[in-house]
Amino acid sequence: MIHTSQERIIVLKPKCAKGKSFALNAQGYLLPCCWTDPLRKLKPNYDGNMDGMDDLFKEELKIENVDTIEDIILSTEWLDFFNGLTKRTCIPKICMKYCGDDRGTREAEVHD
Ligand code: SF4
Repeated sequence: MIHTSQERIIVLKPKCAKGKSFALNAQGYLLPCCWTDPLRKLKPNYDGNMDGMDDLFKEELKIENVDTIEDIILSTEWLDFFNGLTKRTCIPKICMKYCGDDRGTREAEVHD
């Protein structure tokens, strides 16, 4: 059976790709932006909005374990993350929350 439903249209506009600054957290990790601190995951009400970002926070990518910032931002993990954002293949919920541009709704077919 087919019926219609309204679905939201949210377009990602990554601020980190338009000059928003990186950040550093208390554990010594460089972050793509100040909103993406993995310490969020320790909160009791964590809702999974940083799922898909764990590779950015490997021990070897801590500031103390690299020689230069380029060792982090040009790492496979960071390049994969930004590729996922720009190609829209892997977008963490937190990125949609802070960098999603809500364009309203559209009608969509739903197949039961
Ligand atoms: S929330 Fe995501 S898309 Fe937005 S600036 Fe931060 S890392 Fe980039």
